Amino acid sequence: MSDPNCVFCKIATRTIAADEVARDDRAVAFRDLNPQAPHHVLVIPTAHATHLSEFTAEQPAADLAHLFALAAKIGARLGRDGYRLVVNEGASAGQSVFHLHVHVLAGRAMQWPPG
Ligand code: 5GP
Ligand code: ZN
Repeated sequence: MSDPNCVFCKIATRTIAADEVARDDRAVAFRDLNPQAPHHVLVIPTAHATHLSEFTAEQPAADLAHLFALAAKIGARLGRDGYRLVVNEGASAGQSVFHLHVHVLAGRAMQWPPG
């Protein structure tokens, strides 16, 4: 459930501090240390899973729905003109922390397609 070597597990268990914007029994949302937009929040499941694929294989679908519902709620709160949700799945897609997380980006115009 929790990996002692995982930085996001440490945030989930409050072993290390984060600027939290929401928390419940299944998920935690906190501001990214290196924001890529005026508002940049990460939404993580409390349960450790390295990837979206691992999470969907191991956890109930309702927990994934819960994660995205929370991300959407935060996006709607932070992004008056809209917001972007991103999951980087795997190192070649840009994943650098191997605990599933949804990026919520808002507060600026964004280009499509991403680089
Ligand atoms: P990824 O590249 O894996 O999709 O995104 C990982 C994100 O986590 C990056 O945007 C990075 O800035 C953020 N991050 C990494 N370590 C920490 C940390 O200890 N605290 C917070 N708040 N964000 C972190
Ligand atoms: Zn973890």
